[in-house]
Amino acid sequence: MEYETIIGLEVHAQLLTRSKMYCGCSADYASAPPNTHVCPVCLGMPGVLPVINKQAVEFTMMTALALNCPVSDFTKFDRKNYPYPDLMKGYQISQFDAPIGRKGWLTIEVDGQRKQIGITRVHLEEDVAKLLHRTSPDGDYSLVDVNRSGCPLMEIVGEPDLRSPEEARQYLVKLRSILQYLGVSTGNMEEGSFRCDANISVRPVGSAEFGAKVEVKNMNSFKAVYLAMEYEAQRQRKAAAEGKRLVQETRGWVEAQGKTVSQRSKEYAHDYRYFPEPDLPPLVIGRDWVEAVRKRLPELPEARRNRFISDYNLPVGSSSQIASAKDMADFFEHSVKSHKDASPKEISNWILGEVSRITNENKINFFEFEKKVLPIKFFELTDLVVKGTITGTMAKPILEEMFNTGKSAAEIIKERGLSQISDTGELEKIVAEVINSNIQPVADYRAGKETALKYLVGQVMKATRGRANPQLVNDMLKQKLAETSSS
Ligand SMILES: [Zn+2]
Repeated sequence: MEYETIIGLEVHAQLLTRSKMYCGCSADYASAPPNTHVCPVCLGMPGVLPVINKQAVEFTMMTALALNCPVSDFTKFDRKNYPYPDLMKGYQISQFDAPIGRKGWLTIEVDGQRKQIGITRVHLEEDVAKLLHRTSPDGDYSLVDVNRSGCPLMEIVGEPDLRSPEEARQYLVKLRSILQYLGVSTGNMEEGSFRCDANISVRPVGSAEFGAKVEVKNMNSFKAVYLAMEYEAQRQRKAAAEGKRLVQETRGWVEAQGKTVSQRSKEYAHDYRYFPEPDLPPLVIGRDWVEAVRKRLPELPEARRNRFISDYNLPVGSSSQIASAKDMADFFEHSVKSHKDASPKEISNWILGEVSRITNENKINFFEFEKKVLPIKFFELTDLVVKGTITGTMAKPILEEMFNTGKSAAEIIKERGLSQISDTGELEKIVAEVINSNIQPVADYRAGKETALKYLVGQVMKATRGRANPQLVNDMLKQKLAETSSS
């Protein structure tokens, strides 16, 4: 029997507000000592009253609109009750049956095919504290850091419309890209500000019913989500083929072992006993407010991709790649607009190649790269290559030095006495020397071995420390070898 995979994703994104969701504590706690961003409200003391963070509501409205969800006129907050050491009040203030946005979609592209994935809902809630587990000879213990408690958290629930681990990965990439464009979340999965739980099941192809749903948790990267979905899809297919009954359960992804393990079955599922939050009035969102927020929506990744294709004549592939990351797309546009002679194609090639290599190696984003290499200086470097002053090979270490020292390409070229050899007389001398001192490769080339020529070109490039134009060297070598063989 043939099976198909059904996946639905739930994403929690920390919002980039200045203060927490229901109190005035600073939400920027990442580098703060434990338990320094706290007050009676986020500590969960009795008798305190929460206040709704307007910025968090607007960020959630923006996300809902960007995901094609109508914003509800009437929304309210509800208590989700469960006892856990990281939940200070014993309940979380979330949204149950009246979320801010519902029934939208986002578009993904897999193998060149566009597909709409439904968005069930977008709602607002608060984060919990953090537990730090310690071991000691006297017994293990846990510490509680309350800094994260009460930080605004947005939940985006997707419809079970995804049919493969690759579609799930694409959905997450697209969703994160949208949140970054909106400026509502960093979308950093490794740091936990963008978290994903997945629901996955398999069913015989053609069946309209869903199989037993397994919820997978603990995935801390896009790759982990992809691998966990691959693993579960295979495990469930195998069990179904063997006639085993799959149960509804929660499983955790164990990165080191590359597999999921059962955590709890349906019988132990939580009953959250939701009820309307008595300390907060329902929130009525007027049409005027929605329209004002809609007007402030920035250009989103897809629109920007299309504009890159039409305005800069870039190929679809590199347009998609650059537009998918806001930081990269900004650096590209700043560079292109920094000078009237800028070549969008040359700049995009450098960004996807050498600049990406530098940002990856230094584990920084393009915003940080842009602070070190200003767009105008980056343009100047690409322009020197376009004009033939230096070769692409020479430009790479120059870019690296620009990044490390903040100097301009022209300064570095002057200091190092670089610049392409334009004097053909000087180059001819080097070419002749290389031919004279490489008897075997020269003989190989004359015997019809084309790769020997590449070797000789390499030797000339080495002798000139990359300052020669490789194409010119190639032509000169060919000509010289033809001359000397006939003489
Ligand atoms: Zn607080």
